[in-house]
Amino acid sequence: MKSGVTRTRARWLAFAACLLPVVAQANDSAESASYPRATAVATMQAIAARIEHTYAVFAPAFVGALPPLARAGFERKMALLQSVFNAQKLADTHAARAQAWLMRAGAVHEAGEVITLRAENALVNGDYTLVQQLADQLQEFATSSGSERLAMYAVLYRGQLDRHHGDLDAATQREQSALDMARALHDDAVTARALTYLGNIHRDRGEYAQALDLQLQAIAIDERLGRRVAITYRNLAQLYRDLDDPESAQAYFEKAIAAATRNGNPSRYAEVYGSYAGFLNDTLDHARALSLAREALALDEVLGDTPGTAFEQLEIGRALLGLNRTTEAVAPLQIALGMGRALGQQEIIARSLLALAKAALDLGDRAAARARLQEAIQKLDSNRFKPRLVQAYDLGEQLAVVDGDSALALRYASKRGALREELIGAAASRRLAAMETRHARAEAEQQLVLARKENQLQAARLRQQLQQRYFGIALLATLLTLAVILAWRFTNTRRLNRALSTRNTQIETQRSALSDANRRLKQQAGALYQAAITDPLTGVCNRGHLMQELNARFSDSLRNDAELAILLIDFDHFKQVNDVHGHQFGDRILVAGVLALRHGLKHTDLIGRYGGEEFIVVIGDPDAANAEQIAERLRTRVAETLLPLLPRDARATTVSIGIALLSRLPAPVRLEALIEAADKAVYAAKSAGRNRVAVHSG
Ligand code: GH3
Ligand code: MG
Ligand code: MG
Repeated sequence: MKSGVTRTRARWLAFAACLLPVVAQANDSAESASYPRATAVATMQAIAARIEHTYAVFAPAFVGALPPLARAGFERKMALLQSVFNAQKLADTHAARAQAWLMRAGAVHEAGEVITLRAENALVNGDYTLVQQLADQLQEFATSSGSERLAMYAVLYRGQLDRHHGDLDAATQREQSALDMARALHDDAVTARALTYLGNIHRDRGEYAQALDLQLQAIAIDERLGRRVAITYRNLAQLYRDLDDPESAQAYFEKAIAAATRNGNPSRYAEVYGSYAGFLNDTLDHARALSLAREALALDEVLGDTPGTAFEQLEIGRALLGLNRTTEAVAPLQIALGMGRALGQQEIIARSLLALAKAALDLGDRAAARARLQEAIQKLDSNRFKPRLVQAYDLGEQLAVVDGDSALALRYASKRGALREELIGAAASRRLAAMETRHARAEAEQQLVLARKENQLQAARLRQQLQQRYFGIALLATLLTLAVILAWRFTNTRRLNRALSTRNTQIETQRSALSDANRRLKQQAGALYQAAITDPLTGVCNRGHLMQELNARFSDSLRNDAELAILLIDFDHFKQVNDVHGHQFGDRILVAGVLALRHGLKHTDLIGRYGGEEFIVVIGDPDAANAEQIAERLRTRVAETLLPLLPRDARATTVSIGIALLSRLPAPVRLEALIEAADKAVYAAKSAGRNRVAVHSG
């Protein structure tokens, strides 16, 4: 692909290189003329000729080695190039070669396309012989390849040829089938052209209402496609001219000229200018008609457009006649007649003859005038060119008057009168029909515009609905997604919450278990401590705890200079209780005795087991001062408690108590000294007979 593009570029560059010297020379050789457009075309054609010359030199080296298809492509490019330079004959030569190479390569369809291009050019140049040949070839190709498109073009061109040969029935039939084929193939461009051609045929026949309808249909399509509008406007202008509506004709001619100027195609420009010149001659603006016809002629001549040239010569002659430059008018009119005869173009022949008859009459050559007029009338009559026929009868009357043939003059006058009346009547009904047609067409177009607008509105509405639907779907999708996310989040959160609450319960259970354990531990610790400090048999402090507490209270009393009393209590004859009643009974006695002691004490007093059957009671301030009374009370209580347990052995149910008071000992006092003092007091109580209280005297 890329290499193909590069190759194509290289070829065009080679062309451009050949062009440079060519342009330089061509510019030198261009003649200066008063018609810049014609000059420009001539210059371009000179360039084209140089290109052709250069091509002829270089082509064998370039093109000779290429395969048929590539060669055909090359020739098509050359044809396009020459066509751009308005060298239509050269363009056709290359196109014909392209066609031949395509045929050789078996590309029938492409060859057919090339033929249509060639036929278009031939039509523009009025080369009807070539158009005929090409139409025949197209028909052949269409039949062999089965291409409906090629068949359509063949019919389109043949219809045109029929019209030029004056066979309007055949022309109508062909253009109608071309129109049907174009519509079936949805080919708008060809549809518009067939409509134009049909319109032209109806105009030739004087069926103006149909002609106008067809032309208006054609212009609607051409305006939409933006092509061939200059010619279609020109056709409409001519139609309005025939309808005796010079204002509309003028307006459409102006539109046609504007379009042709914009388009820049010199042959379109010449065609429009030539037609406009004819209209200006009809409306008696001969000076402008002359100038426009001459410019068109200059273009037609360089373009090689023979029918165009003939028409332009005719209009130049008519303009000169109108300007009373009769002698000058003869030459162009004779040229027009000669060309018309050569082309077999009836309109040119008839109108040239009529103008030449007028010129002959003006110049006093009555014989020539008669001969020309007779031929003109015969042609105009057979071709039904009725408006021109009125002019011919008018001229016949003038001629008969000059000849002194009053009977003939009267005949011409009455013929002219009848025809004029017919034409006026016809024109009136034509105008009416045309107005109706225009109205109907305008209405149809309005309907079309309305329908199109309605369609656009409908489409916009549909688009809006679609957008709304899409928006709705998108919204729904978003909401659904959000809902799903929320649900997912919610489920997740719930799951997490549940897990959290389970964990919390577990933690709570563990915590309460822990606190239970702690409590138990505390209780156990308390119990352990209690056990550690308690004497298991009697439930009072054991010796270790007793000594610790006693030490603390002793220090406190010393520090506070307070009284402290200790009572050392020893059960009397206890060995004997054990020996007589058993150790277990001894334990019971101990337990009951200690209970009695505890009941006789305040809770602030301290009692502990000092060892064996010996207990110490510690009494602090202020009761210490009454230690002796307290001790006495305790001794009594014990005796009273234990006596019922051992009624036959009263000796063994008593205690001896030794009291030591801190204040009675000489300072500095040590705890051991205080205990020793109590011990001494107990010894004293024992010695004195037991069951008594003795106070250490210091
Ligand atoms: P005294 O009146 O002189 O104090 O005579 P006693 O027999 O009480 O004194 P001794 O010191 O000779 O004997 C103390 C006895 O107390 C000896 C021991 O068997 C007994 N005893 C010590 N602790 C316990 C004990 O926990 N339970 C029992 N059943 N007897 C104990
Ligand atoms: Mg003892
Ligand atoms: Mg004892």
